[in-house]
Amino acid sequence: MRRGTNLPRMGDFNQTVVLDVIRRAGGGLARADVARRTGLSAQTVTNVARRLLDLGLVVEEGATARSGPGRPGTLLRLNPWGRYAVGVHLDPATMTFVLLDLSGEVVARAQRPTPVPEDPEVVLDGLVEEIEGLLSGADVARDRVLGVGIATPGPIDRERGVVLDPPHLPGWHDVPLRDAVAERTGLRVLLDKDVIAAASAHLWDPREHASDFVFFYLGTGVAVSLAVRGEVVRGESGNAGESGHLVVDPGGAPCWCGKRGCLGAVLRAEALVQQGLAAGVALPPWGDGSDPRAVDDAVVALCAAADGGHPGAAAVLRTAGRRVAMAAGVLTDLLDVGTVLVGGPLWEQVAKHAEPALIGAMAVHEVPGGAHPVRASSSVFGPRVGAVGAGCLVLARAFTPRPADLLLVS
Ligand SMILES: [Zn+2]
Repeated sequence: MRRGTNLPRMGDFNQTVVLDVIRRAGGGLARADVARRTGLSAQTVTNVARRLLDLGLVVEEGATARSGPGRPGTLLRLNPWGRYAVGVHLDPATMTFVLLDLSGEVVARAQRPTPVPEDPEVVLDGLVEEIEGLLSGADVARDRVLGVGIATPGPIDRERGVVLDPPHLPGWHDVPLRDAVAERTGLRVLLDKDVIAAASAHLWDPREHASDFVFFYLGTGVAVSLAVRGEVVRGESGNAGESGHLVVDPGGAPCWCGKRGCLGAVLRAEALVQQGLAAGVALPPWGDGSDPRAVDDAVVALCAAADGGHPGAAAVLRTAGRRVAMAAGVLTDLLDVGTVLVGGPLWEQVAKHAEPALIGAMAVHEVPGGAHPVRASSSVFGPRVGAVGAGCLVLARAFTPRPADLLLVS
């Protein structure tokens, strides 16, 4: 069954089609070019353009020699300040906030440690406070804010906007986060799983060009998203991406699932710290690994040791990159895609040493039949990829033309 969305629909399907073509063109389009690219009649484009101008979603500018439907000589261009979206990434260690304009550009941002992650009420207070601070600091009128996208660890119930029982958020059981934030802010809110939101950041940005890719998220946990034909695969319950038990080191450390060398077991931050200690790297005390901030400090020290030339530390990080490549190769073969993107706060920390190892391993990856090369790179969104992606989901909900929307009765 197809379900509607609570986000505002910006007019009809043609309107979103026209806006999407203008947005992706970047530099501005004449009405005649819009008509050609959308297959809409000149008159329809003229009418839709007028509505988009009235709504402040596009602006008219520049002169062109072209003549065509509507007023000749002007270009239609996205008005980035026409609407905004807030993106929030709730990670067990850090909460990250971004304010995106309509083009997906980050116009304001904030970050704070996640307060007492085991208490949802305290987290909610901090989250709402930071959203309000972001909006007032950026001086953005509330009626221009399309909504708030929140990326959280899974599993979630996306339909109900509820965070279920994330292993990385102890104390969280069936927390109705979406409605709680909506109630407190008066804004429309959307909830999605962190890795799915993070991958979505790469689909909204027209500079990214990739519509099919494998995306690895390395944060408190390890997860994978698959984008196929411009859509992130969500799965039946919206919780796709559990890749933790892909074996990348058959002789490696035992995992609770009974196998050895599972991706999630060898690539999570605690595992890298343990591997660093085993390689003789002096690291600060990090307790039993249950305090995410102490683990983070140890990872920072491990990376600093690698930067300082400690061969054991650098080897641990290079091995991490090769292990991502091992899992990536299985998935790119499975989907027949040529792009691997890796992001998230942990990857951001280790990328200096891990990324060259990943790229090298993917460059020699034997694609069955040699059909195409596989390129790997770090996400351009850095540690904010989850928050940016959550904001992009809000923009995409409001402005991406999807045939399924034609089924909606508005
Ligand atoms: Zn396992």
